[in-house]
Amino acid sequence: MKVAIFSTKSYDRQFFTVANEQYHHELIFLEPRLNRQTALLATDAIAVCIFVNDQVDRATLEVLAKNGIRLIALRCAGYNNVDVQAAKTLGIKLVRVPAYSPYAIAEHTVGLILVLNRKLHRAYNRVREGNFSLAGLLGFDLHGRTIGIIGTGKIGQVVAQIMTGFGCKVIAYDIHRNPECEAISVEYMDLPQLFSQSDIITLHCALNPQTYHLVNKDAIAQMKPHAMLINTGRGALIDTEAIITALKSSQIGALGLDVYEQESELFFDDHSDQILLDDTFARLMTFPNVMITGHQAFFTEEAMHAIAEVTLSNITQVEQGQTCANEI
Ligand code: NAD
Repeated sequence: MKVAIFSTKSYDRQFFTVANEQYHHELIFLEPRLNRQTALLATDAIAVCIFVNDQVDRATLEVLAKNGIRLIALRCAGYNNVDVQAAKTLGIKLVRVPAYSPYAIAEHTVGLILVLNRKLHRAYNRVREGNFSLAGLLGFDLHGRTIGIIGTGKIGQVVAQIMTGFGCKVIAYDIHRNPECEAISVEYMDLPQLFSQSDIITLHCALNPQTYHLVNKDAIAQMKPHAMLINTGRGALIDTEAIITALKSSQIGALGLDVYEQESELFFDDHSDQILLDDTFARLMTFPNVMITGHQAFFTEEAMHAIAEVTLSNITQVEQGQTCANEI
């Protein structure tokens, strides 16, 4: 099938080209993000392949449908950037990669916790400048601390397993309990209880209307003073302005982000020679106890290999009229 791959980076080209050796699709690598203007670039293709910050609203879908696109293959798990109902109305099938490596994201989450707790980002710079003072680098033992996991699906489960290994007490909130988590003594409770008991809170639930700004002013007020908050889920799970207020008052003691509500303007591209226009992001970066990575939690060899493999397999299944288990 002829597939237009939007938001292509060099690493996408590398992994998709290798995986395609056994699928033989005709891949057209396009660098622009998909939106209603760039949708026309997919002319001649039957399918488009998209990533997390491609904007697939109704207007974009209408252009795609008009130009013969019958399939959108998401090379990611979340699909909050796609108007699913509009796609169905226009007869465009949607497939995704529901699980590629929960370990990649879970391990990055734990990396953020360790960096923030032991101030490794500050220690790195100090040592390089010949400053071996330990003042301000005091951390705490993770052993014995309480970590609250919101969303115990595939990624949340691996975080629970890793943090159990550290000797943490793991508590959780999810609308569905995960038996694998219960088997390792994860204690489920409601959100206010989780907020009030956790030393570290980490977000792994899907972004949907119920979880939009789940961490807001009211939630923050219920947290332990100086709690650490980690978000490797989706940016809009937290109200960033409320977080900034809480960082200023030290109600939140440390913040680790791999995702950001307005990330589509920034992430995945080099803006190092430009003026940063996002004042909220600029303010976040002034805090010494904030660590931000640019949506890289998924970025491991294993995950990239699995993403390319599953995406191309999904396309083949749809092309051959088979039932695709990864259809949305
Ligand atoms: P998953 O579907 O296995 O788990 C999501 C969990 O969210 C489920 O257990 C579900 O019950 C729960 N949930 C849904 N609505 C909820 C609500 N209202 N309240 C509480 N819990 C709710 O997904 P996953 O593979 O574990 O991924 C989790 C999220 O991580 C994805 O939705 C995606 O946004 C994010 N993610 C980020 C990266 C990254 O690189 N940073 C990569 C992959 C996924």
